[in-house]
Formats: sequence, C-alpha cells, structure tokens
Amino acid sequence: MDILYRSTRGHNEPVKASQAILQGLAVDGGLFVPDRLPVLDVPVASLAGKDYREIAYIVMKQFLTDFTEEELKACIAGAYDDKFDTKELVPVVKVDGAYHLELFHGATIAFKDMALSILPHFMVTALKKNHVDKEIVILTATSGDTGKAALAGFANVPGTRIIVFYPKDGVSKIQELQMVTQKGDNTAVVGIKGNFDDAQTGVKEIFSDKAMGEKIASAGFQFSSANSINIGRLVPQVVYYVYAYAKLLERGEIADGEKINVVVPTGNFGNILAAFYAKNMGIPIGKLICASNENKVLFDFFETGVYDKNREFKLTSSPSMDILVSSNLERLIYKIVGGDADKCAALMQALKTNGKYEIGASEKAELSDFVGGYATEEQTAQRIREVYEKEGYIMDTHTAVASYVYDNYRKTTGDNTKTVLASTASPYKFLTAVLSAIDELPAEIADDEFAKVDKLNAVSHVAVPKAVEELRSAPVLHKRVCASDAMAAEVLDILNIK
Ligand SMILES: *Cc1c(COP(=O)(O)O)cnc(C)c1O
Repeated sequence: MDILYRSTRGHNEPVKASQAILQGLAVDGGLFVPDRLPVLDVPVASLAGKDYREIAYIVMKQFLTDFTEEELKACIAGAYDDKFDTKELVPVVKVDGAYHLELFHGATIAFKDMALSILPHFMVTALKKNHVDKEIVILTATSGDTGKAALAGFANVPGTRIIVFYPKDGVSKIQELQMVTQKGDNTAVVGIKGNFDDAQTGVKEIFSDKAMGEKIASAGFQFSSANSINIGRLVPQVVYYVYAYAKLLERGEIADGEKINVVVPTGNFGNILAAFYAKNMGIPIGKLICASNENKVLFDFFETGVYDKNREFKLTSSPSMDILVSSNLERLIYKIVGGDADKCAALMQALKTNGKYEIGASEKAELSDFVGGYATEEQTAQRIREVYEKEGYIMDTHTAVASYVYDNYRKTTGDNTKTVLASTASPYKFLTAVLSAIDELPAEIADDEFAKVDKLNAVSHVAVPKAVEELRSAPVLHKRVCASDAMAAEVLDILNIK
C-alpha cells in the first residue's frame, strides 16, 4: 500500500511522496510525515554484506512508494557515485570504544552530502512524474553545511534554481569560502545579518507567504526546500543507521538481533529523527542519544518536557548545531501526541508566540528511548585532544560533542551496549577549533586558513580532501549580504521579478 504524507499541523489532503518532496513544507506551515512509519520487508540479518546503494534502495522504497524501482535506482546511482572519496561511501571506524559512522566522504565533506546529493535527483524525477512546468526555486537556510551541500547538489541541475541564506558571522571560514565560491548559473548565496534561527524563520515565512507564492508563480517559479524539513532529505538519512547495523553484523561485531545504541550530534533534529525512523523500521536500536552543544535546548526538553527557546543564542565551535528551534522535533511531537494535528499545531503556535511549550506526562513517557546530553566548549575541545592523544584520530567539533556526550553517558550509566556514533564532518572544515584543541595552532598561522590546512595534514596524516584543496584558488562569485527582514526582497531580486 502507498504511503501518503500528511502535514503535522492540519487536515490537508495527504499527498504522495513525490509531491511532498516538491512542496518541501506543507501549505499550513507544518512538516510532511508519512501516514504510517514503514517497516523493512526483509529480515535485518539479510542486510549483512549489502553495499550502501543496495541498502539505500531497500530503505527508500518503503518511504517513497510512488517512485518506480527504475526511478529510485537511477536516483541512487546518480547520487552515490565517485563524488565520494572512498569506495564504500561510509566507512565505519572504531574509535575509543564507539563505532564512528564517517558520513563526511562526499563532495562537501559533511554528512549532509548523503542526503543532498540525492535530493536533486528526487526532485527532477518528481517534477517529471507530476508534470510540473514551473522552475523549482530551492530556498535554503543554512547553519553552514547544508548550504554548500545543497549548492553542490543543485548546481546546473536543469529546471532548478537554488538560493542559500547563511548567517554572515555564524559559519566557519572554510564553510563560507565553500559557499561563496560555488559555480553554477542557477546558484545564489546571501549572507544575512542575523543568526541561523533568523535565516530559518525568514525562509519559513517566505514559504508561507501566499502573495509571494502567487507572485513567483506568475513568473514561472515554484518554491521548494532543501532543508531537513523536506522529507526527501530525511528519508536518505534513515539509510545510515540501517547500513551501520548491517556493517556491524557483517563484521561479526554484533549478533543478529543484538541492540545497539546510537549517538547523534544534533541541531535541527533531522539526523537523530532518521535514527528513530530506522528503529521503527525494525533495526534493533536501544537508546537514541541526542548530543547538543551549549545551545542545549533539546537536552533541557528531554529532561523536563519543556521546550524553551527563550535563552541566549551561543555561537560555538560546532556552528551547525547552533540552533534553538529544532524544526524536525515537530515530527516527533506529532508522533507522541498520537498524530493529533490540532494539538501539534497548538504547541507550535505556542512556540511561535511565547517561545516555549510543554508536553504532558504521558507524552513525555513516549520519549523514553531518547537520552539528552550536552558538551560545553571546553569539554568539546578536551575530548578532541583526549581522543587524539589516545588514538591519533582527529574528530571535528560536532563529532566531538557526540563523543563527549557518549563517553559521559557510558561512564555515568554503565551502559556498555555497542554504540554507533554519527561522525558528521571532516575536521578540515573546522580548522581553528580543531587545531587549537590539540595545541597545534601557532600564532603565526592563526589568520592563514590554508597554512592551517597544511598543519592539520601534517599532524593527522589524513589527506587534504579535494573539497578543501580546490578552495585555495577558487574565485569568490557571491557577494550578496542582506538584513534578516529583507530576505523576500532579495529573493525577488535574484529571480529578477519586479
Ligand atoms: C547539520 C549538522 C549537524 C546537525 O544535524 P541535524 O540533522 O540538524 O540535527 C551536526 N553536525 C554537522 C557537521 C552538521 O553539518
């Protein structure tokens, strides 16, 4: 039976997967969720020995039921190819007792490549299937990594344009360089004077602005989203955890049916929600450990049942997790209120007007699989150094947040269940923070990004990724900057609409 997608906030007619992918966000501002969470149609043990692409197909076909086998396999082949710097795509490496799932071997060296290299293929397929004659305009707010991964995925894809908004002073130097040097006639990059939440709010407002939608429609355009609110971003992420389990089985690290825990460095709650979906598909996952940086709004939520964004927004060394409104949590809320869209909508309205909401005791009980944790800036840096000294392995700051939280969880609970840790970025993306954590940042190279690249190469013995190497000589092609309340005007200007 087909899976249909409903809005978390309304009673809209449910839509097919391809339509949900094209729309991105539902018209009522809600997020699309499958009307039932699919389960695997093969025994988990049969997954051992399969490669990433095969597992991707087995997982995705359960969610994207209006794609034919041929279409889905073509999307997978187009996305997961030699853009990756390892043949296996996602290496699983044991580091200090945890299995690191290295999700950063794609074109832009962050885990978001895994989903964003396939999303454009989904979209182009969905455009054809639904006979859409409009050009799709991808609007994206980024805390650093989504932007580049989306730009790389959509650059020069026929029938699409992409516009990325990033917080001008809220991303790493390498992240910014990656974006502003992006080639492709259909790409635009705009720095905003504000933080990620401002950028994300701005994008959501443009999406729900009917007049704006009509205006661009009459010029031949239609908006969509490449943010993790798009179901086409979320579904490819479910694959990671199914694949990780299959790998551990194949290597004999776990027995068939043995439960594993999963630790995910979390910002917008997309990646960890995907792990939750994998669990619902039948993968034996015990705890879902949600790791935050000092913007620990999720930790507090899991502790108290109160989601409260009224607090200082902190700029940390793990900028892709500097988020106070974790959009994808709405999908989990919808689930724990029993699919009651009115209740979900009311909670989201409270978040919008008062900056907070509280769930009831029975709903909180539904969250028992989740464990929250966080790492301060010092703890994150210390953890990078500790693991480097112990194993010679250098983690990026986001992965280090998860690593600290896991280590702390294991020590305080004594839970030694085998654990998969989502390793979300290459340390080459966060040079200053990583090098200072291991005391390898002499003052004379503090302002020289590429001297830092060479330094990290010398101490880590990990080859400089192509994505970084090519930045050395890439010209800056994007120079737009705007106020956070001027994003809609910027979009019209880019699309040349008066
Ligand atoms: C986006 C990102 C995260 C957070 O992922 P969410 O799905 O938003 O929770 C963590 N680490 C890195 C490196 C990222 O780019």
